[in-house]
Amino acid sequence: MDFGYDARTEELLARLTAFLDEHVYPAEPVLTAQLADPARDRWSIPPVIGDLQREAKRRGLWNLFLPGELGAGLTNLQYAPLAELTGRSIQLAPAALNCAAPDTGNMELLAQFGDEAQRKQWLEPLLAGEIRSAFAMTEPEVASSDATNIETRIERDGQDYVVTGRKWYITGAMNPDCRIFIVMGKTDPAADPRRQQSMILVPRDTPGVTVRRGMTVFGYDDRDHGGHAEVVFDGARVPAGNLIGEAGSGFAIAQARLGPGRIHHCMRAIGIAERALELMCRRVGARVAFGRPLAAQGVIQDWIAESRVRIEQARLLVLKTAWLMDTVGNRGAHTEIQAIKIIVPQTVEWILDKAVQAHGAAGVSQDTPLAHLWAGNRTLRLADGPDEVHRRSLARRELKKYQEA
Ligand SMILES: Cc1cc2nc3c(=O)[nH]c(=O)nc-3n(C[C@H](O)[C@H](O)[C@H](O)COP(=O)(O)OP(=O)(O)OC[C@H]3O[C@@H](n4cnc5c(N)ncnc54)[C@H](O)[C@@H]3O)c2cc1C
Repeated sequence: MDFGYDARTEELLARLTAFLDEHVYPAEPVLTAQLADPARDRWSIPPVIGDLQREAKRRGLWNLFLPGELGAGLTNLQYAPLAELTGRSIQLAPAALNCAAPDTGNMELLAQFGDEAQRKQWLEPLLAGEIRSAFAMTEPEVASSDATNIETRIERDGQDYVVTGRKWYITGAMNPDCRIFIVMGKTDPAADPRRQQSMILVPRDTPGVTVRRGMTVFGYDDRDHGGHAEVVFDGARVPAGNLIGEAGSGFAIAQARLGPGRIHHCMRAIGIAERALELMCRRVGARVAFGRPLAAQGVIQDWIAESRVRIEQARLLVLKTAWLMDTVGNRGAHTEIQAIKIIVPQTVEWILDKAVQAHGAAGVSQDTPLAHLWAGNRTLRLADGPDEVHRRSLARRELKKYQEA
């Protein structure tokens, strides 16, 4: 067993660290200023992200998430520590490298299941960072953690499909550069529950598509990465060739999309935890209460030690999962993918909470990134499957071993 990173990973880590130090961290206040600028269109992506993208491309730090020839060709194990580093500046670094959700999952989906025409029209500009995309599955009217509930209809009409339904929390869709939606809906409600759904490409400018409003997350509108939109599809008509894969394959494609998406979230979340721990240590070293630095208080030392231990535990499990995905495939790593999706957001939430507490009022303010990070991380316990759904499925698989025996 080798716990070291290979030479390519080490080399990319050094390059990425330099990019973060020289460009990304210094751009954080620039992003804040641009987001606050009333002269800018509220939902368009701040120009500092485009500047960083050009620099990242120039440095060969582009599409690192995507295995194979279309991307940087890294394994999950190679990408994991790089994604973790991007989590340290979560508002800027993943977008700067064209490695931000939901585009990453959408690009993977198109690379894996799109036909040649779909790849040419949508994957190529996404890989080049020219447009953005959204993934539209969740619906306000039904419990969408159970994908068989989805009510949006995708109905065949001659040479077209007609899409009708209402979605919400569609990340990225408020951004006008988000040109394409991958929509999940039912092509055959009478079929077997796992063969009812399909996925279809719906361009944003299709008549019948209305991006209605941005949803908030604990009050944050997340406009740095295109918000989370409510989107209505009212008889949106697209050519039959926009269907991804065959009719009825939507459920299977969604499962395939979520594996890498989940581990990428976890990798970045560990970077968030590292940043929070760093902020906590710096703060308690500099602030004095009752005659001594906060860092001298046993309770705070306990939080710091516990945070370090929890980060190391979480990282090891994420790396093991990445290694399994590389060696036995996403299906073989199913249990571990669920395990990290359960434990990493909770671990990071615990650490962020302690960092907030150690900062006092500043911890909940807009003057440190902690409050926003806490809000974003908390949603990971819902998005891409709530904790309880993963626990249920993991427990069932565990139980099955003994039932079979
Ligand atoms: C910030 C954010 C971004 C998002 N981005 C997207 C996006 O880009 N595209 C998209 O399609 N969706 C997106 N979502 C939606 C997200 O994927 C859903 O919220 C999630 O799948 C849960 O569905 P639901 O909200 O309908 O909850 P429901 O299905 O109504 O579930 C509610 C709760 O019931 C409980 N529950 C459900 N099933 C079980 C069970 N079997 N056992 C025990 N308890 C259970 C859980 O506690 C769960 O949280 C996003 C959500 C957020 C908050």
